[in-house]
Amino acid sequence: MNDISKIETQFKDKIKGFLNQNSFNTWIKPIKIVNIDNDIISFQVPSKVHIDYIKGQYKSVFEKTLVEILGKESPSIKFLIDSETDFNLDQKSVFEKTEKKSRDIPKSRFAPYKETSLNPKYTFENFVMGNGNETAYASSMQVANNIKKTQYNPLLIFGGVGLGKTHLVSAIGNHVFNSDPGLKIIYLTSDLFVFQIVNHIKNKTIDDYKNYLSSKDLIIIDDIQFFAKKEKSQEELFHIFNHIYYSGGQIVLTSDFHPNEIHELDDRLKSRFKMGLITDVRPPDLETRAAIIRLKAEEINSTLDDDIVMFIANNINTNVRDLEGAVKKLYFYYSHFNKEITINKAKEILKELITSKKSTLNIDKIQDIVSEFFSIPKDLLMKKNRTKEIADARAVAMYLCTTQLKATTTSIGVHFGGREHSTVSHAANKIQKKLTVKDPETVKMIEEILNVINLSTC
Ligand code: ADP
Ligand code: MG
Repeated sequence: MNDISKIETQFKDKIKGFLNQNSFNTWIKPIKIVNIDNDIISFQVPSKVHIDYIKGQYKSVFEKTLVEILGKESPSIKFLIDSETDFNLDQKSVFEKTEKKSRDIPKSRFAPYKETSLNPKYTFENFVMGNGNETAYASSMQVANNIKKTQYNPLLIFGGVGLGKTHLVSAIGNHVFNSDPGLKIIYLTSDLFVFQIVNHIKNKTIDDYKNYLSSKDLIIIDDIQFFAKKEKSQEELFHIFNHIYYSGGQIVLTSDFHPNEIHELDDRLKSRFKMGLITDVRPPDLETRAAIIRLKAEEINSTLDDDIVMFIANNINTNVRDLEGAVKKLYFYYSHFNKEITINKAKEILKELITSKKSTLNIDKIQDIVSEFFSIPKDLLMKKNRTKEIADARAVAMYLCTTQLKATTTSIGVHFGGREHSTVSHAANKIQKKLTVKDPETVKMIEEILNVINLSTC
């Protein structure tokens, strides 16, 4: 990494703290520091819109951050527009094509791809299909393979954060681009989309923008829940959607929520969205989580032992981004200390990640889940009942309390009808031993209960 790239990374890392992820991805991620000449720092940005927005919203944050990083008293910021990605320049070049043709600098062969704004790393090949995302995956494939004649227009994928929405819709774009680079694609975050609309209305160029969008074969708009707060643009949005739709363009959208649950979203927009297909992504089940962990490890050229994979899969269920975070954390340790990671080391490294997510789990909840799993009344777990069936369920519950919570065996004993701490340890050890010798019934049972626990602590 050269000095400028290092400064750029530092700069972006610092700015990240001031912005939400959506704004960061839209405005900061695509910019580059291309030159530092004394006090002048030159940024390359994808479009003039970025310059306007950054100057309007982030000027002081930019200056403050540069002062901190570079130690210069009054840095001056210069913006250069990347001619390969700017819509306005693109339009101009179309208008001026005839007279300027011979002097035009040929665009690189990556230019058309760059114009899509797609992230190349998101493909169908590196997306694990499993319980929770099969419908979204199948519909995305269907749209990607039949771009000019799909029955799903628009396709809207909704669901919680970090569950693969951006990945899937970008995979559609990448698939379409690779199968026919002649097709015109654009990926926009809602942030940028709304800002473009507002700007074009202000500059009285909204018709140009509509025509520009209608010339696209595929338009992907990420995180449309952002539209909700933009009353004024919703009217225009509705017309733009119609324009795109009737000129044969495929629209693909994502949202954190089902459109019905996005309050303040124009009813006409809602019904327009419902004319296509609305499908969701849900948290992956245990097996899918394990497959994702293996794939993410493979992607950074590393492999994880099965017990570590299962440990992560059993203990992190919030979303895929967190699974990725866990794999990266282990890899970081491995590459820095050059030491093999044992299961105990993995537990230690990931302790923080796991405890924070486990904060909602407690003894009472484990007892609820176990009693339901074994179909026995919960209060019997606390009583002095000695039938084998109840004693077994109680042992399982105690085992789960000792492994899933930070509670001491003494306090666990108290919650199980005032039993001794040694009784808790004895019961937990009994289950642990069966797991160690891989008793199939016990392994399966614990896995299933952990899965329920994970889902209930989302
Ligand atoms: P969302 O847009 O729903 O918030 P993203 O698409 O940004 O989520 O996904 C977060 C991270 O998790 C990305 O790095 C993505 O590659 C990864 N990811 C999500 N689901 C899967 C999956 N099923 N297979 C592989 N990677 C996934
Ligand atoms: Mg996303």
